[in-house]
Formats: sequence, structure tokens, C-alpha cells
Amino acid sequence: MVIESLNRVLVSRSALAHNFALCRRASGNAAVMAMVKADAYGHGMLECARIFSRCGAAAFGVAEVVEGVGLRQAGMTEDIFILAGLLPEFAETILQYRLTPVLVDTHSLDALDRAARTCGRILDVHLKVDVGMGRQGILPVDFATVVQEIRQRRNLNLAGIMAHFPKADDPDSGSTARILAEFLAVNRSCGHDPGGLCLHIANSGGIFSLSAAALDMVRPGISLYGYGAAPVTQASSRREQELRPAMSFISRVIGVRAVPAGTGLGYGHSFVTRRRTRLAVLPVGYEDGYLRTLSNRGRVLIRGRRAPVLGRVSMNLTLVDVTDIPGVETGDEAVLLGRQGQECITADEIAAWMGTISYEVLCLFGHCNRIEYVD
Ligand SMILES: *Cc1c(COP(=O)(O)O)cnc(C)c1O
Repeated sequence: MVIESLNRVLVSRSALAHNFALCRRASGNAAVMAMVKADAYGHGMLECARIFSRCGAAAFGVAEVVEGVGLRQAGMTEDIFILAGLLPEFAETILQYRLTPVLVDTHSLDALDRAARTCGRILDVHLKVDVGMGRQGILPVDFATVVQEIRQRRNLNLAGIMAHFPKADDPDSGSTARILAEFLAVNRSCGHDPGGLCLHIANSGGIFSLSAAALDMVRPGISLYGYGAAPVTQASSRREQELRPAMSFISRVIGVRAVPAGTGLGYGHSFVTRRRTRLAVLPVGYEDGYLRTLSNRGRVLIRGRRAPVLGRVSMNLTLVDVTDIPGVETGDEAVLLGRQGQECITADEIAAWMGTISYEVLCLFGHCNRIEYVD
């Protein structure tokens, strides 16, 4: 018998492929840079990259150099973009592993140019312009100067220009269309031929809310994993409503017990029973990413029904109320995220309980648990 944790994250390969196809269809003929940073939002970077590669991804996007090196070492041959900025000390590694740096300032220009010359190569670089995110990138007023600076480096080739939407989760704000227009204006203004460059700006929210934002390449992240940038509703686009969440998080009932009315449950007695209560004990807690903010808030699925979390979630134990669910037994599956029977708990729902967004929930569960790939 293989001994493993009772808590498992399941990831559906077919859901990932389905979501990739939806993102691609929503983006016309644009190339797709599959965002696999953060271990593919908790879904496992290498396996996700293999799947998206078979689906036709043109490129992968990661935050740090170390992630890009991991993709290359695993044999990926697509372009790999480093999106969170660089230090000059990474220049040799970037050349060695054929990574594509996105320049957010001029810090690493000399180091990259020198490393490329040493290798006898011309290195493709992309440049990030800050048209409203305010985190990183060249401000529009400095853009033309920096483009010139790159063009003066003999071993660097400016291959693309990118920006990022800050409010793509809020299609009604008008922000996305305004920022797209400014991005295009900045590109026209600096005198280069935008036709020869790869222009890219759209994240998931941009892809599904503004088809004109697709440009030459799109960078979907959350949608590949089955969620919208904002929770998908009846008002969302038809395609967005077809996204399929790829991750489930499943535990098992490790014990069932009945306690009388007036029993304080768990640390701090933050819940005191008002009736004789049947409890299912789950061997899951904040160590597994089922955070303490879910105390007295979360719901889990057992026997196809919703069981509320009672008392504090502790490091490795959580109590749920199964008084109204007949027949619950030790060993039953408890679905923390995903579908069981007719019921479903989504990452958006858990995120609302926790006061956060689906992205954080997926990263948490995926990073804290063993991942099994299914179908
Ligand atoms: C993470 C990221 C994306 C993907 O964003 P989603 O909202 O998950 O689609 C796109 N572009 C950049 C630069 C990113 O960092």
C-alpha cells in the first residue's frame, strides 16, 4: 500500500485543454502565451505546460528565471517569457536556457547585450510599457528613448512590446478599452514599425471582455484553469460561461462523533453547539491551505450535501456539521473544492468566504497538496 496524505488536489487534463481551446477561440488568430507562473496557479507547471504545448501554445509566461529554467530542463521548446523583471546577474542563464526577457527598465540591457555577444547570438527581448498598472514598465514619456537604447545594442533585438490591464476584471469600468488605446498610441508614437513587432496586452479579463485587445498574442492565466478574472455570472460572455474549473480538492472523513448541545468546538470555542450535533472530523487544516479564515464560514460536500464548518479550522483538523446529512461514515469523501453529485463548491465561492479571489485559493490548495492528474 502506498501511504499518502488523505488530502488530494485533482486536476482535470481535459478541462485544461478545453479552457485553452476556449481562450484561443475568443482571441481570433492571436498566438497564445499560456501563463504557467506560480506552478500554473497551483495546477503544476510542468504537466500543465505539456498539455498546453500539445494544445498549440506558442509560448509560456512565468515570473522568475528559475521557473523558465525548469520548463527548459523539462524539454519545452516554446518561447518562455520572464515577466516579473530581471537582475543583470541572470543574463548568462537567460542566454543558456534560451529564455525571453521582458525588460521593465534599462537595468539589465548591458549585461544581456554582453552575454549575447559572448554567445555570438542576437537575443530577442520584449519591452514592457506602463500604461496604467503602475507596478513596472517604461512610462510613455520615456518609451521612445528606451526603444532607441535597445536598438543601439548590437546583440539585442526588440521583438515585442507588452503592457498589462489593471482592471480587466471589471469590464464596465471602461479602463480596459482606454488602456488598449493608449498602448496602441504609445506604439505608434515612437516611430518604429509596429507591424514588425509582437504586441501583447490581454490577460483573461481582456480576452473575454474586449476582442480587439487580442493583438498579436494573448496571455491567459486564470481562464486556462477554468475561472473568470471576476466570478462568471449569467451576464458574462457565452464563451466565459463555458470555462470548466480544472481543480478539485478532496479530503476524507477521519471520524464521526455526536456531541450534546452546549459543547464548545475547537480552539477558543468560537462555536458552541445549540443542539445535539453530529460532527464529521476532517484531517485538513490551514497547513493544507484550508485557511483559518474559513472557520465558521466554509462549507464542504459530503454525500452530495453541504456541511458547514463549525469552530476554528486548526492546523490539521476541521469539524463540519453533518447532523442533517444521513449516513455519513468514517472514510467518506469530503469535497472542499469541486463537484460532488448535484452540488458544487467553486474557488470563487471559497474566495468570497475568505475575502480574496479565486487565484489565491487555487495557488494555496495546489501549493500545499499533492496533485493527481485525472482524465
Ligand atoms: C499573471 C499575468 C497574466 C495572466 O492574468 P490572468 O488574469 O490570470 O489571465 C497576464 N499577463 C501578465 C503580465 C501576468 O503577470
